[in-house]
Amino acid sequence: MASQTAPAVPQPTYRDGDFVPTREVPFSAELDEMIAEIRAGNAPNIGRFCGYCCAPMGETEACGICGESTEQTPAVDKIDRDLAQIYHAKRKREGLYVHLAAWSGILLATGLTILMILLLPGWTKVFAIIFLVLGGYFAGVFFGNVLIQGFAYRAGLKMFAKRWAAWRAGRMEAL
Ligand SMILES: [Zn+2]
Repeated sequence: MASQTAPAVPQPTYRDGDFVPTREVPFSAELDEMIAEIRAGNAPNIGRFCGYCCAPMGETEACGICGESTEQTPAVDKIDRDLAQIYHAKRKREGLYVHLAAWSGILLATGLTILMILLLPGWTKVFAIIFLVLGGYFAGVFFGNVLIQGFAYRAGLKMFAKRWAAWRAGRMEAL
């Protein structure tokens, strides 16, 4: 029985608000795209990937994401299934947050509309309907995109960092 010690969770690195891949959190946007394409059936799971973090390597001998050289760890020709699952889960998590935020915005606008219907006198209640149509739309877009995207982005990377560390630890144990 292998001992189950949870690896320390590495923190994603940000520069000017943008994520920077590191050896500890080697998230590859290119690999992310590739996995989505493979899952959609638009591409085969074949190529040349870093033996350490699985990022696509092209013809180079050093990984642009984690810095590992093929001398240290030979390149592989397939994306690890479990790792692909982690990338997919990250996408799903981000999508969920964006949806939740958009719906919160729409609910908020609806709540305000009801309040306006109750409070506005006579014919001015019509403004409540105008507000519902415009406000609901803008609130949905605003919450869904502007406010939450930064949050969803960071939350997704945090989840990725945790699962990646566990995946790597599991791999080391298997060696
Ligand atoms: Zn790498």
